[in-house]
Amino acid sequence: MTTIKLSANNSMPAVNPKRTVAELKELRSLTADENGAQRVAFTKTWLAAREWLREKLKDLPVEVHNDAAGNTWFTLAGASNKCLLIGGHMDSVPNGGWLDGSLNVLAGVEILRRINIQYNGKPPMTVRLVDWADEEGARFGKSLFGSSACAGNLNLDEARHLKDKDGIRLPDALRAVGIDFERVKESGAELKHAAAYLELHIEQGPVLLEMDLPLATVLGTFGVERHAITFHGQAAHSGSTPMNRRKDAFLAAGRMAQEIYRIAERSGNGVCTIGSCVTQPGIVTSVVEDCRITLDQRHLDPAALATLLADARAASAQFAHDGGISVSWERLWHIAPRPFHDDLIGLCDQAIRETCGKTHRMPSGPLHDAAEVGAAGVPTVMMFVQSLHGISHNKIEDTREEHLELAVIAFDKLAEKVIRWITTE
Ligand SMILES: [Zn+2]
Repeated sequence: MTTIKLSANNSMPAVNPKRTVAELKELRSLTADENGAQRVAFTKTWLAAREWLREKLKDLPVEVHNDAAGNTWFTLAGASNKCLLIGGHMDSVPNGGWLDGSLNVLAGVEILRRINIQYNGKPPMTVRLVDWADEEGARFGKSLFGSSACAGNLNLDEARHLKDKDGIRLPDALRAVGIDFERVKESGAELKHAAAYLELHIEQGPVLLEMDLPLATVLGTFGVERHAITFHGQAAHSGSTPMNRRKDAFLAAGRMAQEIYRIAERSGNGVCTIGSCVTQPGIVTSVVEDCRITLDQRHLDPAALATLLADARAASAQFAHDGGISVSWERLWHIAPRPFHDDLIGLCDQAIRETCGKTHRMPSGPLHDAAEVGAAGVPTVMMFVQSLHGISHNKIEDTREEHLELAVIAFDKLAEKVIRWITTE
């Protein structure tokens, strides 16, 4: 079955990254159509992809089961019950790319193969691969379902009422695939002996492409502040109202649109987005009375995130004052920054440097399952590989094959370093 060979410089068997690329293509041919990947969680195609994954691991001495939240765990039992966890997700958005989530899983498969050979089926500690259920939240609008249930962060009262576009409730959809919604948090037992969690992922952005680097160490996932801001002015006739007599709610919103660029720049690496703008009465012949915009702010540093928000609040108050109008704020959502583990960040740097000479450290704008596992107290780090076009969640999502191969090699080195790190902890 195997084409694994010993590497030249030591006795560690080499992973076969070309096999990972071939398997990714095989998965694509099984689960994509002309519009992209169709592995949406809880669908037939997703179940077929998971069945295919089990088949790939059937020659290894791994125990396989689904936990209470539908996450699949492949466990290679070791001499110690301390666990190294490697994670990814087989699910995709509708019309998704071929690498998002599945690269992580298939790199993990390759690492399990290597460890199994190197240690004759009995590694010094237990090594587990997890395929998280419904990372994307494409159907119910709730990302990180399986990992947040496992980490204990899933809000059951909110999730219980989620419906898909056909009006099917999340608990009913879960029952159809054998998951009891009321018991999903029992999956938390899976983290009992977890000593570290590793996740490889495509960057999904343009940073590494612009720097011409294949790989980066991820410092953590951004914290997010998401608010609706409504400016309240006065509707007035667009012909009869002199410009200096207007209480124009849109003018203040327009000034915010420019100001968030200055606020983001002052913060260092933060980002701010005004993603929607709705005006009332919203007709061509009236000054805008009410203007509601949404603001999404993200930063890796909690203090800097708080400053981003405070600056935006101050600016909105100033612009409202200047225009003789008022402003109100409503928090839509919030998540704290999730910094990764310092030691593991260092080991990830080393693994990348040994593989391709140069590395880079960057935060992740998107959330990942790793953020949930890290928040549950498991030392965690992620590795990013360059994305072409800086695009994901799209069928044009792509990464150079040579970079995919480097990613598998570096990620495997990281796994071995972390096994040693856990042993000495
Ligand atoms: Zn993903």
